[in-house]
Formats: sequence, C-alpha cells, structure tokens
Amino acid sequence: MVDPRLQPGAREARRREGSRAERLSRIPVRAREPNDQKMPTRKKTISTTTPADPLWSERLLYFEARQEKIVQTIREFVEIESPSDHKPSTDRMGAFLAGYFEAVGGHAHVHHATDFGDNLQIDFPGRDAQKPVLLLGHFDTVYPLGTLATMPSHVADGRLHGPGVLDMKSGIALMLYAIEALQAWHSTLPRPVTVFLVSDEEVGSYSSRPITEALAKDSAGVLVLEPAGPRGAVKTARKGVGEYTLTVKGVAAHAGLDPGKGHSAILELARQIIAVSKLNNLSQGLSVNPGVIRGGTRTNVIAAEAVTEIDVRIKQSKQAAALDRKLRALKPVDKHCKLSIEGGINRMPMERTPGVAALYAKAQAIAKQINWKLEEAAVGGGSDGNFTAALGIPTLDGLGAAGQGAHAVHEHIIISELSRRALLLAGMIEQA
Ligand SMILES: [Zn+2]
Repeated sequence: MVDPRLQPGAREARRREGSRAERLSRIPVRAREPNDQKMPTRKKTISTTTPADPLWSERLLYFEARQEKIVQTIREFVEIESPSDHKPSTDRMGAFLAGYFEAVGGHAHVHHATDFGDNLQIDFPGRDAQKPVLLLGHFDTVYPLGTLATMPSHVADGRLHGPGVLDMKSGIALMLYAIEALQAWHSTLPRPVTVFLVSDEEVGSYSSRPITEALAKDSAGVLVLEPAGPRGAVKTARKGVGEYTLTVKGVAAHAGLDPGKGHSAILELARQIIAVSKLNNLSQGLSVNPGVIRGGTRTNVIAAEAVTEIDVRIKQSKQAAALDRKLRALKPVDKHCKLSIEGGINRMPMERTPGVAALYAKAQAIAKQINWKLEEAAVGGGSDGNFTAALGIPTLDGLGAAGQGAHAVHEHIIISELSRRALLLAGMIEQA
C-alpha cells in the first residue's frame, strides 16, 4: 500500500513536525475553542457580517510560520513525476501521499485500478458525529515522464515553478496542512474529513468517477483543491465538457485516373466542420470546437476517410440533450459519403446552485476575517467538482493555490498566497 522506501522516514518526520505544530498551536486555541460542550462548533458559524475576530489573524500567523515547510512539501510532491498514463509513476506518487496523510492520523484506503493509477482515499475521524466533508483532488499531471529535466522545480521571484505545481500538487499539500492545523487547534478534527485523491483526472476520471460520486453522496459538502481562478477567486461554476468524434467515410479513387469516381471524405469533412461550427452559441455559454482533424492517405488518392475530434462546452445541463441531438442529426452533403458520430458529455456543468452559493458565502465570511475580499469565478474548464455538483452536493472549487500556467511550461504558484489559502481551507472544513 505504502512504498516502504518512502514511508518510515517521511512518517517519522511528519510525527515530529506534528508535535512541534501542537506546541506552537497554543495561541489560536484559547478559550473560544469548542472544549466547552455547551457550545458546539456548528453554532459558531460566521457570516459576512460577523465582526473580525483576532482568532483568524492568529491562525494566519500559524500558517505563515509554516510557509517554508509547505513549499518544501509541495516541491517533494512535484519532484515525483506522475503522468496520468503511466501507472507505475502515479502509483508511486499515491503511495508517497498515503504515507504523508497517515502520518497526520488518516486511514488510507487504496482503490485499485487496472488501466490507470490506483485512487487514494484517506479517512479522518472527527469529534462531532456529522457527515464528513470531502476534500477532492488529483495527483496525476499532464506532463510526460522526464519533464523535470527540462522544467525543473525551482523558486524565482516568490513563485514556485514545476510540472503540476499549480494543477494540483500544491492543493494536496494545502489539504495536509489544513488538517494538521485543525488537529493542533482543536486537539482532534472537529468533524470527520474524507480526502479523495484521484489518479486519472487529467484524462477524464474514468476509473475514479464512481468512487468520487459515492463519497460525495455520503458527504455534507465537497471542497475541490483545483487551482484558484483569476485573482485567487474560488470557482462557483464550471462548464460541462464533452468530446465527440465525427467520422466521414467517402469513396476512394485515383486522383489522376478516375477523379470523377471518388467522393472525398476530406471535402465532406470540411463541409461538416462548417456545419458543426454553426452550433456555437457563445452568448449562451455553449461552444463547439473541432480541435483535431485527420484524413486521407496520399495526395494522389481521393480520401476514403476523414475524422474530426470535437470538444464541446455547455453552461447548463439542459443544453446537453439538444446539442447531442443536433450533432447526431448531421447529414452528408455528398450523398455518397457516410457520417458516424460517437461521444457525449463527460462532465455535466457545475452550476451555481443555492448549495454552491451557500458554501461561497461561508468562504467569503472566513476571508473577510483577515480582510481578504474573496472573489468567485465561473470558468470553462471542468474538474471532478462537476461530478459532485451535478449530484446536487454543495461543491466549492478552486480552493487550491493561486498561480498561473496550468499545463504550460511556465506553470507556477505564488508562495505568499499559500498561508491564507490554507487558512481558508481549514476554516471551510470547520464551517462547511
Ligand atoms: Zn486539475
């Protein structure tokens, strides 16, 4: 389950840090902590009108004092490469993470997967018998093995760079430190927490989706540690995402000897791409992009086959059926060509339901305690938060690190933002 080479040292180190954390945590605990049985944590919910309580700035100091350690942990995660399509690597990453989370008192459970890396669930007991909050993340990245050689992890200008640092190894570290802090402040977690770390998010979450959905149904709410939006915003809406493959079969012929006998699949595909593009309705948040084309064999052959792969995005679930119908109703202009279409919507939209809005209001209230005006964003990219939100489970996404360049060579996080994001997450685990 846990890589024996990595486990004992890491565990011991974390245990030592844990006790140091506890010694340093006396300030934030104070008399207001819920050791008073008559005042359960749930009743102390803060709102945006709650006056600033110095407790929160003290808690921020707690994380600021640990900033270097958090950065070091993120670097360790980044320096283990874990591309989605390389199971030995993602499994190694998962085992490493299991060791970290077990060292702060979690119980790791590995969900074995055959095609992709194993998915990792870690359960933490809590003092109050509430439903757990689900912390959702992924440890796979889009970067092939060997990327670190050309894109090494490094710090420059207050930013930590590296493959997957923003999306979303830093988010996993934030989970770890928020849990550790809550344990230090409360002596035990105020509520049960389930961490679920997925190995195949960047390639569609096919192995992990049923587990994500089952865990979400058992949870009071879902906090997704994907990167923050522009200006550090949390994400309260995401578009739904789908992919279709349109294949045109034509009739091959010699381009020189029998030009009149062929029916070009490429020409027909070109016409179909125009038709597909007309399905775009940007003002309604619906977009259709034939992003890949291929077809034909040689210049002197009229093409027998041509294919396009189409990315689709929808803002509302109700747009899915009509778009699907229109794509499947495409008709060939050249009657000698045949069309076939496969695919569908993989992730339904994460819509800003009242449950999502309520979680955002809690996040805003926590941020306000440290004079932080936390913004919200609606984005076009999907995440596993789409799955949980589509089930009606209150979901807040984009709680991970702030930075730029996800999936790109300049991917980085802003180090000075880590403390308040860890604070926000800790607060949300308490309040969600
Ligand atoms: Zn991600």
